[in-house]
This record gives sequence, C-alpha cells and structure tokens, in this order.
Amino acid sequence: MMIDPLTITAGISGIKFISDALKLKKDLVGDDESKEKISDALDKLDDTKGMVYDLRDELMRIQAENALLKKENSVFSGWEESFNKYELIETSAGAMVYKFKSKPPHYACTKCMVKKEIHILQKWNSYDVMCINCKNIYDIDVAPSINF
Ligand SMILES: [Zn+2]
Repeated sequence: MMIDPLTITAGISGIKFISDALKLKKDLVGDDESKEKISDALDKLDDTKGMVYDLRDELMRIQAENALLKKENSVFSGWEESFNKYELIETSAGAMVYKFKSKPPHYACTKCMVKKEIHILQKWNSYDVMCINCKNIYDIDVAPSINF
C-alpha cells in the first residue's frame, strides 16, 4: 500500500472525528467514572494524534530525501556512461590523459575528470594540448594515432 501524506491527513481527521464524538458524549454522561474513562480515552487519542503527525512529518522528510537520491542517481548514471567512453592512457611524452575510445579521436582533461567534468583538450602548440576549462597543459609530444 502506497502511503502518502494525504492518507495520513485522512487518518488524523478520523481521530479528530472520534475525539469530537467522545467530547460530546462526555458532556452527556452523568457519572464521574464514565467521565474519567472518556477523559483518559481523549488523552490517549491526543497522544496518538501527535504520533501520527510525527509519522507524517517523517514520511515527508524521507520522501523528499528519496526524490533527491533518485535524481542524484540518474545524474550519476549519465556521468558513468559518458566516463566509460574514455580510457586513461599515458602519452608518449609521459602525460596521463583520458583518450576517447570512439570517433572523433580526442583527449580529455585528467584534472577535470576527477571533478566529474569532461573537457576536451585543445591544441596549444605542436607538442602540447590545453584544457580550456582549467588551463592545465599536457605534454602530448608525438601521438601518431591522434592528429590534432
Ligand atoms: Zn581541465
């Protein structure tokens, strides 16, 4: 059964209905023992209502947290998919960069990849490439398979 805050609010209305009926009855009964029993029942109902309110608040907090986690998870899945299209390689000049496994061939910035950002390295000079985002320069030297 799917419980939403509205279901709980309906439950609280039910408690209030019983409570009102008991209050009415309390005014009508003559003996003190019955009045006391009804008072005790009303106190218990008040406690129950308080617990139900707490449960509703907790449910709303958990549902909001769940929605946030689902959203974060879908963002992460998207990142994971993009990240898996790259492999970490060492260039002939000794720099560590991410190489795109497909076409068009290109490298991505290692420093930005750690921050879960993919930035394509751009040609800086004949031997180096630069990340436009973090300005990090990587020594590519000769990369026969990749023509910048
Ligand atoms: Zn970068």
